[in-house]
Amino acid sequence: MEIQHKELNFQLMVEASPIALILVNGFGKIAYLNKFAEKLFLYKKEELIGLDLSVLIPEKFRVKHLHFLTDYFNNLTSRQMGENLEMVALRKDNVEFPVEIGLNPIITDEETFVLTAVNNITESLKAREQFRLVVESAPSAMLLANERGEIVMINKQTETLFGYSSEELLGEKIELLLPKQMKEKHQSLRHTYHLNPQKRAMGAGRDLYAMHKDGTEIPVEIGLTPIEKDEGNFVLASIIDITERKKNEDAFRLYTKKIEDKNKELEQFTYITSHDLREPLNSIISIIGLLLEDEEYKTNKELFKMLNYISRSSLRLMDLISGLLDFSRLGRNAEITSINTKELVLFVLEDLEAAIKTSNSKISLGALPVINAYEVELRLLFQNLLSNAIKYRKTGVSPEIYVNAKEINGGWEFAIKDNGIGIPSNKKEKVFLLFQRLHGRNEYDGIGIGLAHCKKVVELHDGKIWVESELDKGSTFYFTILNK
Ligand code: ADP
Repeated sequence: MEIQHKELNFQLMVEASPIALILVNGFGKIAYLNKFAEKLFLYKKEELIGLDLSVLIPEKFRVKHLHFLTDYFNNLTSRQMGENLEMVALRKDNVEFPVEIGLNPIITDEETFVLTAVNNITESLKAREQFRLVVESAPSAMLLANERGEIVMINKQTETLFGYSSEELLGEKIELLLPKQMKEKHQSLRHTYHLNPQKRAMGAGRDLYAMHKDGTEIPVEIGLTPIEKDEGNFVLASIIDITERKKNEDAFRLYTKKIEDKNKELEQFTYITSHDLREPLNSIISIIGLLLEDEEYKTNKELFKMLNYISRSSLRLMDLISGLLDFSRLGRNAEITSINTKELVLFVLEDLEAAIKTSNSKISLGALPVINAYEVELRLLFQNLLSNAIKYRKTGVSPEIYVNAKEINGGWEFAIKDNGIGIPSNKKEKVFLLFQRLHGRNEYDGIGIGLAHCKKVVELHDGKIWVESELDKGSTFYFTILNK
């Protein structure tokens, strides 16, 4: 009774199994098949039982199959049949389809059978083919490697990039494509990758090189995607040749370096000339001062007027040269420190106290942050913008000035808003150039270097400066300071 029960269970299990199972005896005859096998091959059980298994195999494979079966009965193990071999089965309606076959020996007292599990792999072959097409049509070289690092699939671009044919590459270790010094290290990197496979760029922050068949090294960028399949874990590598990009980057770096050198040279030149020009100018100014004190000149009105004119021009020249000197000095030997900008602005306002009082300015501050910046330079920046906001006021209107800041991506944006005379829209860029002024000295005093200073300071902090303004309504100067 108990045995019957067991048999029933076994038969039910085989019958209900979602895979086609065929029991074959030692003579190659079909002893039993389950429902799924009936469905797969379109036969009824009673049509097949007792027939030779070869009815399910296309004619051209039958002889080979017979050999295989004989070999198998001589060496019974559970295994896949014909690994790496394309196997095809035949349906009742003569349609052939690709299969994967698993073999299990079943030995009873009387007889030995082979339980054959047949898996129709048409769909998975289709998927594999689709995958191959995707890989083939990718614009970059693509290569699929198994867990042992053996290349199992490549596309045309890989052949072109490395100079090998697919026959030369398939089955080879991926290290074949690496420069000598990387081969060994790569093996352990590969193992580590398979322990924690994830989609990522390879060798972040390192320059990667691959090796062409002729030994030349190619700078590359590599993306890795793990692919899990029934047969195991694979990794799909997409390889981009960045020779051209590297060349461009190198050229760009060289070009930037040249510009930087030229800029430094120019600054050095400005520094030396403005420094040296001040000395003779100083002598001229002091001599003219002495002459202006001289009674003889004082009595000669015409001469005195001319001397006065020379004196004023020399002093102005001195201002200009000093401005230039300061400009060239900005950022020299400066160090980044942490600065409370609210305190800094309050210091600047103390310095501007006299101007604030005479102009009756009202200045209010928003929340101002602590930032990392060049202190002396930043102070000069606020000083110039605030003194301009006071200086360029409308006659009869007390300046109202608001200083504010807001956090932006990567730093801070400051704004200094006034209710002054405003700037014509076509002059908004010009005002930041050296010695550019919009007014005569008799209207507003100045030499036109303050905003050029501001621009340089802001650029030292990798920021930008600009102005939004409406004539007669006021201006808002904005600048950004990026985190250092
Ligand atoms: P300076 O004040 O010595 O002329 P700047 O470089 O500081 O030099 O300014 C350049 C020009 O920009 C000024 O001559 C003025 O015409 C204009 N300007 C600057 N700030 C303001 C402001 N807040 N409102 C209106 N115009 C301004």
